[in-house]
Amino acid sequence: MKFDTVIVGGGLAGLLCGIRLSRGGQRCAIVSRGQSALSFSSGSLDLLSRLPDGTAVQDTAAGLAALETLAPEHPYSLIGAGRVYQYAREAQSLLAKCGLKFQGDASAPHRRVTPLGMTRPAWLSPPEVPLSPRKGEHICVVGINGFADFQPHLAAATLRKQGLRVTATDIDLPLLDNLRDNPSEFRAVTIARQLDQDSHFAELCAALRPLSETHDAIWFPACFGLTDDKVYTRLNAELACPLYLLPTLPPSVPGMRMQTLLQQQFIRSGGAWMPGDEVLRATLDNNMVSQLWTRRHEDIPLRADHVVLASGSFFSNGLVAGRDGVREKVFGLDVLHSPDRASWYRDNLFDAQPWQQFGVRTDATLRGQLQGETLQNLYVIGSVLGGYDAIHQGCGGGICAVTALHVAQQICAPGGFE
Ligand SMILES: Cc1cc2nc3c(=O)[nH]c(=O)nc-3n(C[C@H](O)[C@H](O)[C@H](O)COP(=O)(O)OP(=O)(O)OC[C@H]3O[C@@H](n4cnc5c(N)ncnc54)[C@H](O)[C@@H]3O)c2cc1C
Repeated sequence: MKFDTVIVGGGLAGLLCGIRLSRGGQRCAIVSRGQSALSFSSGSLDLLSRLPDGTAVQDTAAGLAALETLAPEHPYSLIGAGRVYQYAREAQSLLAKCGLKFQGDASAPHRRVTPLGMTRPAWLSPPEVPLSPRKGEHICVVGINGFADFQPHLAAATLRKQGLRVTATDIDLPLLDNLRDNPSEFRAVTIARQLDQDSHFAELCAALRPLSETHDAIWFPACFGLTDDKVYTRLNAELACPLYLLPTLPPSVPGMRMQTLLQQQFIRSGGAWMPGDEVLRATLDNNMVSQLWTRRHEDIPLRADHVVLASGSFFSNGLVAGRDGVREKVFGLDVLHSPDRASWYRDNLFDAQPWQQFGVRTDATLRGQLQGETLQNLYVIGSVLGGYDAIHQGCGGGICAVTALHVAQQICAPGGFE
């Protein structure tokens, strides 16, 4: 099977790259083994919230410029501050074309409210997500009786400490009783499959309406809207006060919606989506990847002019840690990591953890290297890359979007940026 480009991994990075390549006229395939990190994410995307020295980023352009000095191996520093900013803006408009609306932009982080009632910086948040509330507003944080993955009383207690007027309560939704028999079934995604049905709208609306008449805003767990914002829009039209949604413990409804809409857009743009398959190994000729071998197509290799590795970090098995070090699983690419295991971790769980920065080493074009030799047609994007800390620096989603578009740009317009 021959394609212009084959992408290994269909999470945020692989899909954005694939959509951009397909829109650029490339015949593109994505091979993706299983669920991506999006199913576990908040639904908000981070671009750059903190510098490696812990300084909070207030202005993205200034933060990116400082990063070039502080962290030269950071993927943003390799790409260059100006281009990162440009790709971030381009990513936002590409996401909008996929049907993903967001509040926020690349110029500066905004603060979104977390399920624990704290606020944290983000680049883009779904419009349903509450941002820092106004003092004086009377907010009602509402849970669903028996649903353990969202605790309104915890969120309310934290919000009250910030001087906000907050009430916490649970609503009863008998329509969900069939899920309660099995507590492992009582999760945001299974609840959403019920609440997204037209026939259940009236019961949900009736349970929330009295609260909407006595409060200025309702904050509810993100338990509906698996494929669109229909229920959310309809509720907002019918309730007496605005409704907002907070992400729950995984699985994440907003994250799964993002995955679905990106997949649909990739397929609509003409891409070949190959789910449930796994690239096991590659054949190399003269520092070029010539064939990819997958589990399902045992004896029929995939061939492509360009290959993009978007297989994710340890979470998705793109990287694997063993006794003797850290390994990139498909190609065995050179990895940035420290050989001394004792230096991988810091004792305080809340400190920046060195292992978070482990990942594939590339040059400025994001081509991967094997024993110091650059592979000419193999690009690396997203969380399999090394040199940054998605949690401490708050840049996970941004790294995926920016590196995906940087690589797509080079494949579509070779020589343009080198
Ligand atoms: C639990 C969790 C929550 C996060 N939450 C956020 C958040 O809220 N906001 C934010 O900005 N960032 C968040 N991040 C950071 C996150 O890394 C990125 O936002 C992003 O979703 C990662 O996308 P990715 O495409 O690089 O990798 P992944 O999402 O990990 O996708 C990689 C895909 O490749 C597939 N794959 C792996 N190996 C192969 C192979 N050999 N052949 C075929 N397919 C393969 C995997 O099955 C997977 O589907 C989170 C990360 C984690 C781990």
